[in-house]
Formats: sequence, structure tokens, C-alpha cells
Amino acid sequence: MQAAPSATALPESQPIEGCDVFVIGGGPAGSTIAALLAQQGRDVVLVDKEHHPRFHIGESLLPANVELFRKLGVYEQVDAIGMKKWGIEFVSIEHEYQSYVEFADAWDKSMPSAWQVRRSELDEVLFRNAATRGARTLEGCKVQDVQFDDNGAIVQAQLDDGSRRTWHARFVVDASGRDTFLANKFKSKNKNPDHNSTALFGHFRNVRRLEGKREGNISICWFPHGWFWFIPLADGTTSVGAVCWPYYLKARGDKPLKDYFFDTLALCPELFDRLKHAELIDDRIHATGNFSYNGTHATGDRYLMLGDAFAFVDPMFSSGVYLAMHSAFDGAELVATALDAPQALARVRADFEGMMRDGPREYSWFIYRSTNPTIRDMFMHPNNFLRVKEALMSLLAGDIFGKTPMWWGLRRFKILYYVIAITHPLRTWRGWKRHRFNVRDMGKLQGETIQT
Ligand SMILES: Cc1cc2nc3c(=O)[nH]c(=O)nc-3n(C[C@H](O)[C@H](O)[C@H](O)COP(=O)(O)OP(=O)(O)OC[C@H]3O[C@@H](n4cnc5c(N)ncnc54)[C@H](O)[C@@H]3O)c2cc1C
Repeated sequence: MQAAPSATALPESQPIEGCDVFVIGGGPAGSTIAALLAQQGRDVVLVDKEHHPRFHIGESLLPANVELFRKLGVYEQVDAIGMKKWGIEFVSIEHEYQSYVEFADAWDKSMPSAWQVRRSELDEVLFRNAATRGARTLEGCKVQDVQFDDNGAIVQAQLDDGSRRTWHARFVVDASGRDTFLANKFKSKNKNPDHNSTALFGHFRNVRRLEGKREGNISICWFPHGWFWFIPLADGTTSVGAVCWPYYLKARGDKPLKDYFFDTLALCPELFDRLKHAELIDDRIHATGNFSYNGTHATGDRYLMLGDAFAFVDPMFSSGVYLAMHSAFDGAELVATALDAPQALARVRADFEGMMRDGPREYSWFIYRSTNPTIRDMFMHPNNFLRVKEALMSLLAGDIFGKTPMWWGLRRFKILYYVIAITHPLRTWRGWKRHRFNVRDMGKLQGETIQT
């Protein structure tokens, strides 16, 4: 599908600069594809509306990401800023103990760990790496319009000082994250009615963490109105967030967000206890709408959408950065085909479209069912019967595009789930009802960003 030209007129005196590929957005997806394409010797422009280092949420990485950092040549830099993460702790208020799983138990034993990172630091490493590899990078530069023509596209952007610049690019990559620049332009973004939530989060000092090797693990703590993340960062700070169903945030009324966040924490006694001597950094709790969506299509003859610019799923399994960077690796091949061998583009586009749906779909199956007691039990009692735990750990490690036979194990996991669910019909029905109740649309809160 190709876009209709936009009506925005070009200022008469404005020079038009040329490039092969124009990348909108210097997050993990944009910086990765810019580095890869520049390395191929292409003339790449990468812009971000913000200046690095800039805040971004999404601090827990997956083991499958490690190989991508190696390929980009930034492994040592990420290792230097990261807190080693070997596994996941699951905490459920319905169970009196915690469950610990390790990535080393996945099917592929060669990816036992990942990192927790400050995204401001990680994203700066990736953005600067794109420049080192030869991309022309520009910060404080917000793309405002893209008009496609037969040879590519005219891209217009505004800089922080109010000045404007215009490029003609042979290919445009949209990596604008949840701003979904092209999907908004094409009106091709569909909100997912089966999942929407809101996240409240803050950074804390003096938090009691797990001990020893488990210190860097992410903790996922389920509570009646959603789930918490607990992410220990390398400098001693811990990121704590509550992903809540919209009705719950709406019930806050006029209560200050900070007070509401602490009330929410109290609903998970184990976590509350870990924060009993903690200090909230900057005295600030953030809130962000967190709804899931995906686009109707990710590619055209002259463009492609990566990462969150195409789809977003609930961050319960920390899949966002990996899916974004993986899409950039495949995307770089697609761009090369579009520029060098357009006759082969149709097939490459079809493969890419499939890949962009595979990742979110696989994680969504588990996310949708996370309120279901059967899935909770299976996470709280991880069992390797028929190698289902190995398969589950492969998914949680992000190994979804690898070559292991994990899919058979995952199918067996799902069959076991359905069998248990069918043999407990009342519990299953209650879980389903609860899910419908949780995801009902509360209107105004969607996408809203509040700070207090
Ligand atoms: C509450 C929450 C918690 C999360 N937790 C995790 C987690 O633990 N682990 C994980 O892997 N993922 C997590 N995610 C998801 C993760 O943050 C994203 O999936 C990831 O950042 C996607 O990368 P991206 O490059 O596609 O987009 P982004 O990282 O959002 O980058 C997009 C960039 O584009 C720039 N931009 C936007 N519009 C324009 C424009 N018009 N012109 C120029 N620049 C523009 C933005 O400034 C930004 O720098 C979480 C998300 C949320 C909401």
C-alpha cells in the first residue's frame, strides 16, 4: 500500500537535501537500522525529536537481545551500563511463596542472561553507535510531514530552534515508537480491544533486593488490579511500576498520584515490604497509557515501520526492545532489497509482514491469560513435564526467531493449559469474566500522560 501525497506545501526557498534512507526516531529500532544501513555504505539520516540522553521507560532486556548488541558492536558498552539479569521472579498474592526461573533453563543454553538498563543510557549508546557507523544523526529534529512520490519521499522536519529542513529520501523508515508517525498518517493503527492498561512508575533508592545472583532479576508481581515490575538497575536504583487496568486508575479520583501509587503497592505485601525504607527519587511518580495496538500493514514500496511504530503489546515479558531491534535487523535487509533489487521486494515484504505479527502474537497469548488462575498456577509451579518449562523459558528469553524445537514444547504447554482450564470450568469462566471486566474501555485515560 502506498500513501497518497500529503497536501503540505514546501516553503519556496527551502533547499532539499538528498539521502538514501531517512529514519524517523532514534530509539532502539531506529538507531539499529540506521547503523546497519550506514555500515552497508548507504547515505542514512537518523533524526530524533529529543536529545540523547533522554528518559524512556522499558528497562528490562531479554537474553536474545545480547546477540544483537554483539552484532552491532556495542556489547561491551551495554555490559558496562547494565545490571546482569539471570532470570525472573514471579510473585502472586494468591501464593505464599515466590517462583524463580532462570534463562539458563531455556532450550538454547547459550543465552543465559541479559541486563537491566537505564534506557537513557542504552538508547544513547545505540544512537551514537549509528553515528560512528556513518549515519548522519540529528537530535531535536521532529519530523512533521512525509509525502511519497514515485522515487521515494519528501520529508519535512522542524528543529528545536524553529528552523525547518527538507530531505528527499529514496526510502523512509518509521521508528517513531508509540508516536506511530506513519500509522497515524495512514490511519492504519488498530487499538487492541482485548488488552489495555495504564502504567504508574517511579525510581527508588534503598530498596531491599533479592540476594546473590538473583539481585538483578526482574520481579513480576501480580495483584488484583494488574501487575508490578521490580527492576534493579546497576547504580543501586530500582525501577518499580504498576501496570493497572484502566478502571483502577480512574478510581483514583483526585487523590495525588504518588499517594495512589503507594496505596497500590500496599496491595502486594511482599513488594511493599521491600520498599519499606525506600526513597522515591525526584519525589515523582509517572503515569502513561499503555494500550496495545498494531498496524494493518508494516511496509510499502518506499517505507517500513519498525518496533512500536507498528505494534505494541503489554510489557509484562519485557519483549519491546528486543522486538524493536529484531525488526530493525530484518528491516535492514528489506530496505537493501527495495533499493538494490526491487523485483524481489514483494516476497521480502510478505516475510517481513509475517515476522512483525509473530512476536506480538506469541507474547499476547500469555498476556491475555495472565489474569487466569490456571496460567498463574503454571507460572508459580514451573514444571518441565514434556519439556514445557524449557519451551516457556525460551519464549521468556526472547528466543522466538531462533531455530530450537521450542514451538512443540510451547504447544504442549498450551494443550496442558486448555486441559487444566476445561477441567476447572468455574474457575476458567471467572477468569474470563475478570479479563473482560479489566479490559473494558474507560475512555479518556487512554494514552494520557500525567506527572506529579
Ligand atoms: C510502561 C512500559 C514499560 C515497558 N517496559 C519494557 C521492558 O521492561 N522491556 C522492554 O524491552 N520493553 C519495555 N517496554 C516497551 C519498550 O519501551 C518499547 O517497546 C521500545 O522502546 C520500542 O523501541 P522503538 O525504537 O520502537 O521506539 P522508542 O524507543 O519509543 O523510540 C522512538 C523514538 O522516536 C522519536 N520520535 C517520535 N516521533 C518522532 C518524530 N516525529 N520525529 C523525530 N523523532 C521522533 C522518540 O523521541 C523516540 O526517541 C515498556 C513500555 C511501556 C509503555
